[in-house]
Amino acid sequence: MRVSVIGCGYLGAVHAAAMASIGHEVVGIDVDQRKIDALSKGEAPFFEPGLPEILTEGTQSGRLSFTTDISAAAGAAVHFIGVGTPQQAGGYAADLTYVNAAIDSLLPHLREGDIVAGKSTVPVGTAAELATRVSETGATLVWNPEFLREGWAVQDTIDPDRLVAGVPEGPDGERAADILREVYAPAVAKGTPFIVTDYATAELVKVSANAFLATKISFINAMAEIAEATGADVTELADAIGYDARIGRKFLGSGIGFGGGCLPKDIRAFAARAEELGRGESIKFLHEMDAINMRRRDRAVELVVNGLGGSVFGKKVAVLGAAFKPHSDDVRDSPALDVAVRLNGLGANVVVTDPQAIDNARRLHPQLTYVADRDETLRDADAVVLVTEWDEYRREMAPEHVSTLTHGRVVVDGRNGLDAAAWRAAGWSYYGMGRP
Ligand code: NAD
Repeated sequence: MRVSVIGCGYLGAVHAAAMASIGHEVVGIDVDQRKIDALSKGEAPFFEPGLPEILTEGTQSGRLSFTTDISAAAGAAVHFIGVGTPQQAGGYAADLTYVNAAIDSLLPHLREGDIVAGKSTVPVGTAAELATRVSETGATLVWNPEFLREGWAVQDTIDPDRLVAGVPEGPDGERAADILREVYAPAVAKGTPFIVTDYATAELVKVSANAFLATKISFINAMAEIAEATGADVTELADAIGYDARIGRKFLGSGIGFGGGCLPKDIRAFAARAEELGRGESIKFLHEMDAINMRRRDRAVELVVNGLGGSVFGKKVAVLGAAFKPHSDDVRDSPALDVAVRLNGLGANVVVTDPQAIDNARRLHPQLTYVADRDETLRDADAVVLVTEWDEYRREMAPEHVSTLTHGRVVVDGRNGLDAAAWRAAGWSYYGMGRP
């Protein structure tokens, strides 16, 4: 099938390459010339495991091309929209400028019978508004939210755990759902649940899934706050409640909380939309989840300050991690980087390392010092702070080895990923999040 993908960022570039890898003829379109130049050469403009391989394969086979010229979308049967929907400047609502611009630029190139499939995360009600403009061209709009996880994006796109299609009522909607089934044929053939529903439900599935995940993380972090006041250990608590199949251990990792380009802005946009709908009360708790999440960053900073005897001024602090999570170079709203910036603001000599995210971090926060090599980062540090749970820091960093490099013996484990007993045994003052 001929497919176009408009917006080639973390979502769109992977989607375009994945669609080519399952056999479609794909053109990826973006307004960012630098991104398109890289992608056209088969180079991934960001770090995502598995992406370089399918990009190279796609571009070399001739099935995958990239351009800044929107007219290249003409002739495709399905047009995916994967442009950004960031938080509005000065507010919590989603900024739909890019979605509207993408649709406007696409309209002149649509033909009767084309499918426009929105993948961007949008406030409920957006698809219904856009549908009229799309249907005037004879095309049909579907909303096909994306659930990929950065770091596993290729696998999640090719082999998702479910597919959701919000379609209009009637034969156009049924036909659109059939075409999407054809696009995702390998997953559908495997028996992947394919949920056909209305626009509002499809939009809400995405934001409610994110709201649930954010709530689960903030729940355990709220327990961490209580643990800190009582001497309890939140990691043992999480293990113990996680054995209950109704609860489950996944997403009960306590630490400095969630961040990234999705969860924070999505729960805020959801709350803003609920207010507009007169249902602000229904998800008022999301404000609390957001607040708990942000407090954990304060707590990590506090642990470093206390660990260093009340002030970080003039002390060297080695910060391990800049990405919002491992297996990604994404630093959008990264709690790791936020902790580093706050410590820098308190007068610490902050040195940050990360296996993938240094370039992105430097662009955002040039005031920090970045060092690619982990051991160089640790050298002569007064305190070590783990903020992104890369294996390089969590599993492959023996305290005895770190002791040979650092000046001080203070370690703050912002992800509860280190073996506290091993670090203490090696002579370190270990501080976890919600742990004694
Ligand atoms: P991103 O910023 O990495 O990518 C967005 C891309 O759209 C950019 O490359 C930008 O240049 C391009 N763009 C903007 N306006 C355009 C236009 N008019 N025409 C063509 N291209 C245009 O963002 P992202 O992380 O890929 O997220 C995109 C959407 O997908 C968001 O709504 C996000 O919430 C959603 N989403 C993201 C993920 C994720 O893990 N990143 C997961 C699920 C859903």
